Amino acid sequence: MTEGNPTEGSTKPGGMKPHVARKRFGQNFLVSPGIVAKIVAAIHPQRNDTLVEIGPGLGALTEPLLVQLDHLHVVEIDRDLIARLRARFPPDRLTIHEGDALKFDFASLGSGLRVVGNLPYNISTPILFHLAASAGGVRDMHFMLQREVVERMVAAPGGSEYGRLSVMLQYRFEMERLFLVPPGAFNPAPKVESAVVRMTPRPQEALAAVDASLFAEVVKTAFSQRRKMLRNTLRERVGEEDWVKLEIDPRRRAEELTVGDYVRIANCLSPPPGRPKEG
Ligand code: SAM
Repeated sequence: MTEGNPTEGSTKPGGMKPHVARKRFGQNFLVSPGIVAKIVAAIHPQRNDTLVEIGPGLGALTEPLLVQLDHLHVVEIDRDLIARLRARFPPDRLTIHEGDALKFDFASLGSGLRVVGNLPYNISTPILFHLAASAGGVRDMHFMLQREVVERMVAAPGGSEYGRLSVMLQYRFEMERLFLVPPGAFNPAPKVESAVVRMTPRPQEALAAVDASLFAEVVKTAFSQRRKMLRNTLRERVGEEDWVKLEIDPRRRAEELTVGDYVRIANCLSPPPGRPKEG
């Protein structure tokens, strides 16, 4: 993918020049009508849904979504693309939030929010963590991501793909890998395969960690040296007597523990000094 190639499929509202794909914004535009239709069918939008698309780009998903919805929100960082979107869609149908999706307050759009996007690959992990933080108001999310990232998201314990991303997201969401997408579905074509994933937040009462930030800290520390025994990586927080109480063998490694194990570890710890235990 090189910056400087005029992008095929870049319609030119008002005689605008073809858009040049920007690598720094992770721009790989969907050009396969079959894949677009499959993604929209998976989302299954209903007229009154509150839906936000991250990175609408040249509108490959935006346009078919707007056929089925009364109104759509989008968050886009590229000013050239924003100008095109403004020229193409009326403001009463499309609300454009200009700026960085990583800083966008998704909770401001209200509850029952549906989030979709062919995500810019260079910021996919931080976007997922950012969205996990406002998952309370979200109904579901459908994303296209690198296949390798989706495999890490849905991985089960025991393999090399299972890591911090798997534990943190599986704690918060039900996750389904829906289908694969080949590089030829994009322009410019990325080097790797992609996949579409559906994420549905678990109900609040299913979230068993007493202190969410303590849980996040335990998971982060355990996977910071994933090949080491938990006894060593978590030495500062979990004592030998805790491992006995938890009935977890401290010689095990981070990738062998389930999400439930991490919740139990976090719940048996006291919060660090100065931070009250969350209720
Ligand atoms: N949705 C379009 C499609 O499927 O053809 C474009 C997808 S392209 C992979 C990613 C889009 O996200 C681009 O439009 C890019 O400008 C936008 N983008 C990149 N970084 C962003 C950020 N931090 N916040 C919001 N949008 C961003």
